[in-house]
Amino acid sequence: MQWTSWVNGKWIEGDQAETGEIINPATQEVVASLAVAGERSVNQAIQTAWDAFHDGRWSRLAYGERAACLFKLADLIESKQADFVHWESVQSGKPVKLVQYSDIPFGLDNLRYFAGAGRVLEGQATAEYNGLHTSWIRREPLGVVGAIAPWNYPLMMALWKIAPALAAGNTVVLKPASLTPLTALMLGPLAQEAGIPDGVLNIVAGPGRVVGDALVRDPRVAMITLTGDTQTGRTIMAAAAARVKRLHLELGGKAPALVFEDADLDAAIQGIAVAALVNSGQDCTAATRAYVHHRHYDRFVEGVKALFESARVGNPEDMRTDLGPVISAAQRQKVLGYIEQARTMGAQVVTGGQAGPQPAGFYVEPTVLSHVEQHWPCVQEEIFGPVLVVLPFTSDQEALAMANDVDYGLASSVWTTQLDRGLEMSRQLQFGEVWLNDHLPLTSEMPHGGVKQSGFGHDLSHYALEDFSTVKHVMAAVKQDAVKPWHFTVLGDVPE
Ligand code: NAD
Repeated sequence: MQWTSWVNGKWIEGDQAETGEIINPATQEVVASLAVAGERSVNQAIQTAWDAFHDGRWSRLAYGERAACLFKLADLIESKQADFVHWESVQSGKPVKLVQYSDIPFGLDNLRYFAGAGRVLEGQATAEYNGLHTSWIRREPLGVVGAIAPWNYPLMMALWKIAPALAAGNTVVLKPASLTPLTALMLGPLAQEAGIPDGVLNIVAGPGRVVGDALVRDPRVAMITLTGDTQTGRTIMAAAAARVKRLHLELGGKAPALVFEDADLDAAIQGIAVAALVNSGQDCTAATRAYVHHRHYDRFVEGVKALFESARVGNPEDMRTDLGPVISAAQRQKVLGYIEQARTMGAQVVTGGQAGPQPAGFYVEPTVLSHVEQHWPCVQEEIFGPVLVVLPFTSDQEALAMANDVDYGLASSVWTTQLDRGLEMSRQLQFGEVWLNDHLPLTSEMPHGGVKQSGFGHDLSHYALEDFSTVKHVMAAVKQDAVKPWHFTVLGDVPE
């Protein structure tokens, strides 16, 4: 079977006369072939979504009806959970354990949250603020949303985008990452079965520089939401500037974890190791930089070393596997390149540092680097692999300064048993998320988003609904008089 794009309620032909191969990163086997979409397909999808928005088939549905469709979509995905787990794992190399017990349940929770939250899209109270007019606020959808997703959580990121976009009444053209389009494409027919009208959700699988770029430049697309690399964010911002297009950018991260002298050290070691290894480190919020009070430094390094060495790296389909491969040969090369560079600069590879152990897949050993310096690339840049750097500190201010000293500002964690220290750190850390004595958990009700070069706008929560909609002020004259009291300022004499 050849996979292809889903537009206006049906599978369409690809238009590049090009067949893409989807590779299982754990085995390098081809698991699916794809008719790659190009300009013709994306143009068709944009027009379809434009028509579907402007005839009101979705935006003018009763809020309760929209909610019912989104709840039904969640139920249908759940009923096909085994298929989703399989395809998500084989296209991305993610352990089935992670997909089944984390990605899918959380993606569904998010969809169900927005199904309900879309019914309470509220504006401000109505009032006669100036005495002459009644004002009210309409919270409205924007139109066609172009949603561009990454490969690290293919299904969950697709759901994070389409759920608030659809709940707010928009129509969507979703572009999944080229390496991992399958589970996003599977949403098309399920959306139809759920009662979402054809044309409201379109899924176009093609390259970022063609399909993504067309979404960014096309005047019929009102908003772009991207989750991806910071460099992709820059490229999209530049292209979107021509039309002053609304952007929602969830970009890279380099999360610090600060372990203070009063921390529960065992909990910090466990929590930071888990947060560093999640999804083989291919997570924008993964703990990548541990700053540890110098009195705990050696014990901390020993502790994470032991846990990293206990991680079961291997076949993602085995429920006991903790870590799968990274996504591609290029990604493995990038990760190993950072490790090699750090080693050359004088870092100590405490554990890991090599490709493997499986020869066929794109595996990287869980790696801890010590004796690194703050300005080195392995500390400053997003590696996106199972690599943790550990640096010591002596004072709170030093820890804080190093934690904030990166271009990114997505997520961070503080490990302390003193509430006042935790509160002060949460105030001063320049990140969109601060955890105290944990690292990673998110909840659909709370926002997720970055500052600095991690982007702007929020996923999850009521704040995402605000990002995917706009407010309109409507002002109605209270009296029907032709000449209003203020008209003299333009036409007529100042009243006596
Ligand atoms: P990427 O930037 O390479 O690709 C993301 C998407 O953008 C893909 O669909 C790609 O095809 C598309 N794209 C690429 N170039 C484009 C262009 N010129 N115009 C339009 N679209 C284009 O990112 P990735 O490698 O797939 O994902 C990993 C990155 O995503 C990491 O940097 C990670 O930190 C980030 N991420 C961020 C969050 C967050 O919430 N902030 C969450 C997950 C991942």
